Amino acid sequence: MDATADYRADFSAFLQASPSSYHAAAEVARRLDANGFTRLSESESWADAPAATGHYVVRDGAVIAWSQPVGAAATTPFRILGAHTDSPGFKLKPKPTIGSHGWLQAGVEVYGGPLQNSWLDRELELAGRLVTQGGTEHLVRTGPFLRIPQLAVHLDREVNNGLTLDRQRHLTPVFGVGDASEADLVAHLAGLAGLLAADVAGYDILTADTNPPATFGLGQELFAAGRLDNLSSVHAGLCALILTSEHPTDIGPISVLAAFDHEELGSQSRSGASGPLLDDILTRIGDDLGATGSERLQAYAESWCLSADAGHAVHPNYPDRHDPANTPILGGGPLLKINANQRYATDAHGAALWARTCAQANVEYQEFVSNNTVPCGSTIGPLTATRLGIRVVDVGVPLLSMHSARELCHVNDPQALSAAIAAFFAPMV
Ligand code: ZN
Repeated sequence: MDATADYRADFSAFLQASPSSYHAAAEVARRLDANGFTRLSESESWADAPAATGHYVVRDGAVIAWSQPVGAAATTPFRILGAHTDSPGFKLKPKPTIGSHGWLQAGVEVYGGPLQNSWLDRELELAGRLVTQGGTEHLVRTGPFLRIPQLAVHLDREVNNGLTLDRQRHLTPVFGVGDASEADLVAHLAGLAGLLAADVAGYDILTADTNPPATFGLGQELFAAGRLDNLSSVHAGLCALILTSEHPTDIGPISVLAAFDHEELGSQSRSGASGPLLDDILTRIGDDLGATGSERLQAYAESWCLSADAGHAVHPNYPDRHDPANTPILGGGPLLKINANQRYATDAHGAALWARTCAQANVEYQEFVSNNTVPCGSTIGPLTATRLGIRVVDVGVPLLSMHSARELCHVNDPQALSAAIAAFFAPMV
């Protein structure tokens, strides 16, 4: 296999190991362990932490990992790759075992902003974490288990003139037939984790599409999978961090992978980008390097954050939704995302940093800016800039069908993003 096929196979494996943000954080941790990183506990002192290739912290569905040069000092700046581990879908409600008319169904809430119709008629799984009364956490996943069945066209003659889905009535998945009063969904999940239903005191369980990633198209250039937004960035950042840590230098910045949870909800949580997580970790890294408050700010003044999140490629059937002069294509390289109203944090200095980073990595990139009549999304970039005062550039892999249960990108763009992140972590001076 060539390097591109290797990257794609590794990315596919990462996607399949990561049906929920909790699984994504665990998979990042597993790969870091395998590459010489040491996990640290937030509730313990790090003063006596063993020397390692790098260190990391997992907080719920988020993970922050870092690798520092041999000569790291109190004012050593950070190079941070920000991304998010969560994706839109559906989340299990309390008393989740419901049903009617002989069907077993799962009570779910809508998580984030899924493209709802794309979740119909797919074999979905449940994945996430169970927590016991004692506070022990168990990851669990079902494999193909449930489906949101669409109404037949014969019973909905107007459906092709516009599909309307009521979020309470029409999006409830089925997972079998029988009497709901005799079934117990939580007991099933508990059994998969080797627990009894009575052991489970709480859960965060979400849906995920179970179809494996696929490569297709005339030149095998198209790549489809669930959760490309935003595991394409988490995986690219992780690969770049591991690569950087394999070549430790005496000087240079501290490389940080910050993979937050809850971006799809607006990032306002203790593991989200609006919370204190990154600030907490950077402060502790600085403390362990003996940084005073003003030395920490000196380090921040020279630091950069690359906020990587999937963006929109031009859709051939809806080109009018794009800015006519900026129409990113699949395979054209990662996006530099720009917005006059700071929905993306990129400014002129950020654009220049991205240009020299991509030149160093020998990677092509393309600009994204919204059509003025189409409201722009946002991401963790502006939140990080606002919280920490660190310069931020917004970038990401171009997709079609963002927030679909199965999104579409080019086989080469995730790897190109990873190469650019590796150059960002190890800038040539
Ligand atoms: Zn995203």
